[in-house]
Amino acid sequence: MTGKVRTRIAPSPTGFLHLGTARTALYSWAYARHHGGEFVLRIEDTDVARSTQDSTDQILASMHWLGLDYDEGPIYQMQRLERYREVIAQMLEAGTAYHCYCTPAELDEMREAQRARGEKTLYDRRWRPEPGKVLPPVPEGVPPVVRFCNPPEGDVTWNDLVKGEITINNREIDDLIILRPDGVPTYNFAVVVDDWDMAITHVFRGDEHINNTPWQINIFRALGAPLPQFGHVPVILGDDGQKLSKRRGAVSVTAYEENGYLPEAMLNYLARLGWSHGDDELFTREQMVSWFDGSHLSKSPAQWDAAKLAWVNAQYIKAKPDDALAPLVAAQLQKRGIAADERLPAICALFKDRCETTVALADWAAAFYADVTPSEADLAQHVADAVKPVIATLAEKLASVAWEKVSIAAAIKEVLAEHSVKMPVLAMPVRVLLMGTPQTPSLDSVLAIFSREKVIERLKRA
Ligand code: GLU
Repeated sequence: MTGKVRTRIAPSPTGFLHLGTARTALYSWAYARHHGGEFVLRIEDTDVARSTQDSTDQILASMHWLGLDYDEGPIYQMQRLERYREVIAQMLEAGTAYHCYCTPAELDEMREAQRARGEKTLYDRRWRPEPGKVLPPVPEGVPPVVRFCNPPEGDVTWNDLVKGEITINNREIDDLIILRPDGVPTYNFAVVVDDWDMAITHVFRGDEHINNTPWQINIFRALGAPLPQFGHVPVILGDDGQKLSKRRGAVSVTAYEENGYLPEAMLNYLARLGWSHGDDELFTREQMVSWFDGSHLSKSPAQWDAAKLAWVNAQYIKAKPDDALAPLVAAQLQKRGIAADERLPAICALFKDRCETTVALADWAAAFYADVTPSEADLAQHVADAVKPVIATLAEKLASVAWEKVSIAAAIKEVLAEHSVKMPVLAMPVRVLLMGTPQTPSLDSVLAIFSREKVIERLKRA
């Protein structure tokens, strides 16, 4: 092994980039960056029936959106079939793998009998060559699979970067299939050849793979390949304590992008979900990279907390410069068929403190670009007949003031004085008419962003 840290993320392109995979990618990326190493992206597309180009594209787009830049890849497993077959041939030659001609029916029968005897269902190694053993005659027309000669006895132990020492006995596992009859390798084999060829030193992945690791370690050993270190990250649970899944809300990175979350907020939140640096809740990517040395990873499952993510996002929105926020809000507006203009940064400045997402910011901005329809209830409550003359006076005054915040504020004051009413009496109905809601930032600031014509037009609806 060279001294260089090399990590990877190896998603299967059978759907969007899942939040759990995104978090593992983040840890792998940050670990490599922390150590001045390299990060590899590998697409594990050997499940030909379920893998799609569309999923691959989505995964690449999400990695890009999150800013998880990789030094190598994407490397596609289906483009490496020759290499896998070469290694299989070497293993058959060395006697660490063998052909098995069991039909699916025979395997079913085998398992059925084991179940009836109350045993664990494991392949009984009937095709495994042993000294002095007579193998069954090779049947006609049954395409063989290749199985790995797993050591039948002994413990496999590794010191997991997240979970500490893990031991699994070889009696728990069997001679797994490494090459299917169609010549496509299985996950546990391809992953080892790839991690070996790509000189991966540290494997971070979800803990659903813990039971695969003994096989992989045994294959590494059979190949005489150096072992990477493994770190198995616990699952993410939904609000209900069950594994986070589609049925329980958005689980794809894409959905959060669409719903107005900022990539830097997502990274921050995902990082904290299963890792900590003291009590720090908000930190930059650079800070994370400088802190992420593989320690302080949590051994127990993290709970997805939508409210906390929204809070983190709100902090990032608040801190983001208006000029940088505006294009993101413009993109949200565009989805609604609304074209924004040069007023958008000022709108962001005025409303961003009250928004958790760019979608919420676009909701506010839309009032400046598209018509608003106040609710009947708001109209009835705030735009009562008694206040209509006050609104009319305001419309008159605004027709001739200089169109800037201070003069608008002065005009409002004059109207209040003339009618002897207090600010809320006028402000509430004007907000309802202009913005469609009685809760907005200060009236003069809001009015100044509208054009004079638009303000007068909406006030006249009273
Ligand atoms: N393709 C596997 C997955 O998506 C990768 C597991 C690994 O990182 O080894 O779960």
